[in-house]
Amino acid sequence: MNDDSAHPLPDRCRPDEARYQALFEQVSCGVILLGPDGRVVASNASARRLLGHAPESIAESGIASLCHPEDVEREHLEPGAIASGMIARAVCRVKRVAEDPWFWAELSASRLPDGGAQIILRDITSEREAASRIRNLAYFDALTGLPNRELFREQIDKAIERCRRVDKPMALLFLDIDRFKMVNDSLGHSSGDVLLTEVADRLRAAVRGGDSIGRLTQASAAQRPAESGISRLGGDEFTVVVADLEHPQDAARVARRILHALSRPFLVSGQEIYATCSIGIAVWPDDGANSEFLLRSADVAMYHAKSRGGATYAFFNSNMNLTSTRRLALESQLRRGLEREEFHLVYQPIRDTRTGKVSAVEALVRWKDGNGQAVSPAEFIPIAEEAGLIVDLGAFVLRTACRQARAWQDAGYAPIRMSVNISVHQLRRTGIVDSIDQILFESGLEAGHLELEITESSMLDANPNIAAAIGRLRELGVGLALDDFGTGFSSLSALQRFPIERLKIDRSFVAGVGEKASDEALVSAIVALANRLSLEVVAEGVETEEQARFLAQLGCRELQGYLFSRPLAAADVASQLPRDPKPVARPAPSDEAD
Ligand code: C2E
Ligand code: MG
Ligand code: MG
Repeated sequence: MNDDSAHPLPDRCRPDEARYQALFEQVSCGVILLGPDGRVVASNASARRLLGHAPESIAESGIASLCHPEDVEREHLEPGAIASGMIARAVCRVKRVAEDPWFWAELSASRLPDGGAQIILRDITSEREAASRIRNLAYFDALTGLPNRELFREQIDKAIERCRRVDKPMALLFLDIDRFKMVNDSLGHSSGDVLLTEVADRLRAAVRGGDSIGRLTQASAAQRPAESGISRLGGDEFTVVVADLEHPQDAARVARRILHALSRPFLVSGQEIYATCSIGIAVWPDDGANSEFLLRSADVAMYHAKSRGGATYAFFNSNMNLTSTRRLALESQLRRGLEREEFHLVYQPIRDTRTGKVSAVEALVRWKDGNGQAVSPAEFIPIAEEAGLIVDLGAFVLRTACRQARAWQDAGYAPIRMSVNISVHQLRRTGIVDSIDQILFESGLEAGHLELEITESSMLDANPNIAAAIGRLRELGVGLALDDFGTGFSSLSALQRFPIERLKIDRSFVAGVGEKASDEALVSAIVALANRLSLEVVAEGVETEEQARFLAQLGCRELQGYLFSRPLAAADVASQLPRDPKPVARPAPSDEAD
């Protein structure tokens, strides 16, 4: 508070009365002067414009009578408080006349040397609106309108506080859409977005229908519920907080309702698709004392639900922790493993049923991590794909396999087909065909002896690079096989559009031969279909004589499986390879083999 009397201005600086009056009138903020008794003694034009009348007329009831009663209470704007200089700054809603809407104003008060006070009044409505828009952007997910991770954290902390007070458990449901990546990869990202929006809508409806959950809205920050809600954490991950439970098991009811809501097909880009989800449930306080631990436990439980095939829920239990820690550890070990060359290949022979000889081998990557533990590719390939490591790993696999194929030929074995699995992530890369061409050149292997196994999701991927890459690979003379046939979307039109030569029947169907009539019918149908489309067929996972006989009778030309051989080290495969009756002198490869 300035006390001008302590430092009087020199005479030559004191503005004359008229100039002072003009300045007072023209200043853009509202200025109201109060006398020592708290009555309004003067106001400028801006104050009159803001208030719609001369504030002198409200002298009787005091300045506080202009403000919203709630704000008067919150900011302690009791009559006299401003005039006495007790309030330096207050933010409150102000109204011009009774029927006008409230507007937000900032009041700053300071004492004057004569014992009165000066109030500066500023309309801050648009500032507050801008701030609330920014807050909405910062706290809500633009695609679904649901609270984002930030707001989720705030809400869950408040929910925990509340449940602590009322001494009731609370559950956190962590949802992840099953095979969402496949939808994104095959139908494109905009279809993925449509699906996410639909899922969010169904979640709202499913959760709102419940009695055990607080009402949920995505509305403005001002309206948001503090204690429970749905959030989108990012990607295809959603969370639902279920507060005030009578019993932790009640959360299962909500999970079932969500699973049910998502079980109807979704219409995305004119196609009906099924999108189930996996739900992990963590209960406060047992599975985590704060939001961070609770979220981690729910995430772990979600992975468990996923590993049981998805479309289900799982409650967290402490034995599960190992799995998620392992997943994180695997990713960093994978990176290290690539640098330290911990990977090697094994080769599984594929037998021609007519000649009884090995006609091809499938290269399968193997990894012994830093501790010498073998990790299954079914576990680490998806992590390598997600972490973007598959490109380097895939290049290593291709290079090693091509060099090995060429080395066998050089050692006098008959040329056989080298089949190599290639991930959709590799095919999406620009330059993939050039790098395969380079690897063939360096290894000295003819393109016709290399076959790439692609999955159905590669064929359906919207990325234009993939169709172009597949076309160019075919021009180079590289063979293409469709792996795990029957487990994906099995689009028959894609089969015709792409230059595929071979189908590999997934081993899950072969396993049912001799046991399940439906699997036998499916295998027969796939072989018949392949014949009609002039495609070759390899049956994977043949383990019994009965399966081999059944498949040979159908006209399935090549068989692969433990019945004939497990995947073996290169040196062990050699003994099974046919000798080349007429070895041809081949030019030496331009690059040294490993
Ligand atoms: P896949 O391409 O379908 O490979 C066949 C899998 O079936 C191999 O598992 C093989 O060991 C297994 N298998 C073969 N015969 C039998 C049998 O008679 N019974 C049973 N139960 N299993 C049999 P593996 O080596 O564990 O590989 C799993 C999957 O990992 C592969 O499935 C493939 O999708 C992927 N993978 C392996 N190596 C690579 C690679 O270098 N690159 C990429 N992108 N994926 C790879
Ligand atoms: Mg394969
Ligand atoms: Mg396969």
